[in-house]
Amino acid sequence: KTETVRVALAERSYDIEIGSGTLAGMPEFLRARTKSDHAILVTDSNVDDLYADAAGDQLVGEGWEVDLFAIEAGEPSKSVDAADELWNAMLNEGADRESIVVAIGGGVVGDLAGFVAATFARGLEFFQAPTTLLAQVDSSVGGKVGVNLPGAKNMIGAFWQPRGVLCDVAALESLPDREYRAGLAEVVKYGVILDAEFFAYLEANVEPINARHADVLTRIVERSCRLKANVVEQDERETTGLRAALNYGHTFGHAFEAIGEYEELLHGEAVAAGMRCAMQLAVRLGRVAEADFERQESLLEALGLLVDPLEADGDEVLRLMYRDKKVAAGKLRFVLPDRIGHVELVADVPEADVLAALAV
Ligand code: NAD
Ligand code: ZN
Repeated sequence: KTETVRVALAERSYDIEIGSGTLAGMPEFLRARTKSDHAILVTDSNVDDLYADAAGDQLVGEGWEVDLFAIEAGEPSKSVDAADELWNAMLNEGADRESIVVAIGGGVVGDLAGFVAATFARGLEFFQAPTTLLAQVDSSVGGKVGVNLPGAKNMIGAFWQPRGVLCDVAALESLPDREYRAGLAEVVKYGVILDAEFFAYLEANVEPINARHADVLTRIVERSCRLKANVVEQDERETTGLRAALNYGHTFGHAFEAIGEYEELLHGEAVAAGMRCAMQLAVRLGRVAEADFERQESLLEALGLLVDPLEADGDEVLRLMYRDKKVAAGKLRFVLPDRIGHVELVADVPEADVLAALAV
């Protein structure tokens, strides 16, 4: 059974379709949403053989002209160079304003392909078929696309909303264990910041979640997309501060990622460690009950996400936090829960408490 999340934006709304085996329905999904018959598929070297090649064949079978480009898998491909190569390859294949771009892959492919779609010929229609859990619940919702500069993640980019997103939870079966769990960290995050009922659902379904049960995954991806879409609908361009809640665990997390030189920890793993520290900080500040900290610890542990904040040196963590763009006017601010399902933005947190919270 398939679920649909409708994302209602000021200019145009679009659907996120979620279910098991939905990739097989890509030709119909696209046909219902575009007049184009030239699809530029962007994927990576892992997802190509797994899913993108077959999706391309299907489209060809339905009369589409298809050009498939596979970038090398991994974060380094989210670069201006990779975008440059794609722009030129597209030009060589005769892409024009009537062509569409379809990203089939994880967040790297989605961010890069979306950026190329936003910029080629001043913007092409863009579709996403996210194949990692992180991409399905996070990066494919919200319209942020872009590439990295050396030393500055996501520095070059745009807001470019897709015309449609097709999430196939069956594709998550082939995901490496660490990648799967890293995606679950963002799922837990949604429960903590926005939805106590969802958090309880996760607690009650640890076994099927760990087994990647399709129906449970459909429900989890659907609810996560709905929760993020609710925030994005109210703060489409990240101007009102509402999106800040989504950064729960990320101020600590970004510091841990940087300390591990973006190699030791996956983003979701760093966020899991960051959520532990943030919740601990909230306990220290007397803002949340110890019991809520314990609930989060138990759920993270059950999902294989009890990640330690490395051997993080306190001064280094503080230095990195001050450098993080989410820190306003030299003051440390944190998104902190006051209970499971609700967070507040807390300003002027004393450094001593931040340091103490590192020792979860
Ligand atoms: P990724 O795209 O690098 O994918 C992770 C790995 O899984 C890759 O090796 C990929 O080839 C492989 N893979 C993908 N799908 C697979 C499948 N079904 N089976 C087997 N292997 C598969 O990483 P990610 O975690 O999906 O995305 C991370 C990126 O997303 C980062 O660049 C981050 O900045 C970005 N991001 C963007 C937003 C946004 O709002 N745009 C939000 C969060 C993260
Ligand atoms: Zn994140």
